[in-house]
Amino acid sequence: MIQKFSLVGEKEVTRAIVTEFTAQFAEYVDCDCIVIGGGPSGVMAGRNLARAGKKFSSSNEITTLEVDSGSVAT
Ligand SMILES: Cc1cc2nc3c(=O)[nH]c(=O)nc-3n(C[C@H](O)[C@H](O)[C@H](O)COP(=O)(O)OP(=O)(O)OC[C@H]3O[C@@H](n4cnc5c(N)ncnc54)[C@H](O)[C@@H]3O)c2cc1C
Repeated sequence: MIQKFSLVGEKEVTRAIVTEFTAQFAEYVDCDCIVIGGGPSGVMAGRNLARAGKKFSSSNEITTLEVDSGSVAT
């Protein structure tokens, strides 16, 4: 039988998520702009910033912080 996924445990998955998030977070500590609010206005602001090649972070409500770059679909 063809095995499509590697056999990994929860520890490896958790480690990968934390490592990736930390690296992204560290990278986006320094950005051009912060978009507060992920409603239509915030999404459009993010899209326009991405199109302009700006590096930005976005947050929605108080508890979440995401990082984005020019990868937003245009
Ligand atoms: C019941 C209802 C029905 C509607 N129906 C329609 C419709 O059919 N068609 C239409 O075109 N429009 C409709 N609207 C209007 C439409 O929803 C708004 O015009 C639109 O959502 C405004 O977008 P916005 O991005 O400015 O604000 P919001 O959509 O309000 O986005 C603001 C975002 O900021 C976040 N936020 C708030 N405070 C903070 C903070 N301190 N830190 C971080 N994030 C924060 C919120 O969680 C939210 O996600 C409707 C509105 C309502 C209430």
